[in-house]
Amino acid sequence: MNVAEMSTSSSLQSQVQYGRFIDMKPRNAKGQFIKSGGYKLTEEHKRKVALSHIGIGKGIPLSKAHRKTISEAMKKKGIHKNEKNPAWKGNKVKYMGLHNWVRRHLGTPSKCEHCSKSFKSKSIHWANMSGLYIRDLNDWIRLCVKCHKAYDLKRAK
Ligand SMILES: [Zn+2]
Repeated sequence: MNVAEMSTSSSLQSQVQYGRFIDMKPRNAKGQFIKSGGYKLTEEHKRKVALSHIGIGKGIPLSKAHRKTISEAMKKKGIHKNEKNPAWKGNKVKYMGLHNWVRRHLGTPSKCEHCSKSFKSKSIHWANMSGLYIRDLNDWIRLCVKCHKAYDLKRAK
């Protein structure tokens, strides 16, 4: 090995070491990697992430067929602004939050409003009469599991 070669290899080695030194991963004082994360995504951020996963907001022009596919995907994910979709917060209340809201205002009666029998609170459900999941106490009735199933079947027809 001549002098020129030695100098080249030593400068290469120092570059490699330098490369290691500027490693951008966060480390603590002991040089251990610090776990990133532990921060919560905001609702807005989550929505953007959900959209980016289905190819929106990336600046890619979409074919009509592709747009349709995305539209279907959005419907499945409940992103579409559809007032009748209970997953959509069109009524400014979360679907689950609405049940809690009804329970807060009407309590949890143990009697089925259809067959008038009494049940344990777990065997009796809040049923939405209009199917629109609106924030209207008159739209909610207490039904036992049996009557609730029958009611939903009847409404589905
Ligand atoms: Zn009943």
